[in-house]
Amino acid sequence: MKKVILTGDRPTGRLHVGHYVGSLSERVKLQNSGQYDEIYIMIADAQALTDNAEHPEKVRQNIIQVALDYLACGIDPDKSTIFIQSMVPELTELTFYYMNLVTVSRVQRNPTVKAEIVQRNFEASIPVGFFCYPISQAADITAFGATHVPVGEDQMPMLEQCKEIVHKFNTVYGETLTDPQIVLPSNKACLRLPGIDGKAKMSKSLGNCIYLSDEADVVKKKIMSMFTDPNHLRVEDPGKVDGNPVFIYLEAFSRPEHFEEFLPDYKNLEELEDHYRRGGLGDVKVKKFLNNVMQAELTPIRERRKEWEARIPDVYDILKAGSAVAEKRAAETMTAVKKAMQIDYF
Ligand code: ATP
Ligand code: MG
Repeated sequence: MKKVILTGDRPTGRLHVGHYVGSLSERVKLQNSGQYDEIYIMIADAQALTDNAEHPEKVRQNIIQVALDYLACGIDPDKSTIFIQSMVPELTELTFYYMNLVTVSRVQRNPTVKAEIVQRNFEASIPVGFFCYPISQAADITAFGATHVPVGEDQMPMLEQCKEIVHKFNTVYGETLTDPQIVLPSNKACLRLPGIDGKAKMSKSLGNCIYLSDEADVVKKKIMSMFTDPNHLRVEDPGKVDGNPVFIYLEAFSRPEHFEEFLPDYKNLEELEDHYRRGGLGDVKVKKFLNNVMQAELTPIRERRKEWEARIPDVYDILKAGSAVAEKRAAETMTAVKKAMQIDYF
């Protein structure tokens, strides 16, 4: 069986380090492993419009920003098909048919949708399109026959919902759609990176992000202002490591060689954590180390981004070509789906 990846991001802002550890770096690894036959990476503009209907300019502008972030991180257009969701109309068509296979109460139970409704203050005024986005995500995944979906932990309920749709479709209309599996980051700290404010999730919509495109001094400022253990007031106080964003970031980003290079007094993260727990280790020292670690990771990304920023027409060409490839593949699925559903009349 072919191994196919589908994943993507909403063009609601530039991408941040949460995206990087939760999904982007995993994609680059999978892409470069050479083990996948096809890789589709989608800029989900149609999904972004479900809760940004009144701000089409925001979505439009961020398409290029997300594409630049992809290229900066090492997504290679020769190996991965980068495309724009709205340029593949089959995805909308599939969504319409899948809607018949899902109940309203099932979508209402989706914990990510629930949390996002609260976060966006939608309450009683949820746009129908937003409510249905898990169904459209199932269309995105199945249109390409995706077998693997590398995303962050918040996407788990979406994958479950997608699998249910696949099973229902195949049961009702006959074996047509491919059952996908989620690929989560193996590092626990990367599943859901908290914001610099300590909130549960770094998110574009919450404004608590370190962006991949942030300049070095901005990154440093954000790190130095990060939320830590609020009870760790004096250096000699014992500190809490669990749930402390600075240590979660270190878990996500630091490698043994960083200690050798930037903090040779400690062999590894465990030693540093132990010292913090015991007391006698100040936040500033830990934050300075985190800054060095993150700059080492982000500097090459920032530099590559600048190179692509000087070639915007080429980036649009990549998106245009990728969208044509994606459309062709989705059309094949559409034909199979229509046949299975007996709506292939002529
Ligand atoms: P929005 O607030 O507009 O929903 P977002 O920051 O949540 O934006 P998405 O485009 O919804 O970003 O998510 C894209 C991908 O990045 C998904 O795979 C998601 O799981 C992953 N991701 C987003 N935020 C984080 C995070 N803080 N930690 C780990 N993974 C994340
Ligand atoms: Mg999101």
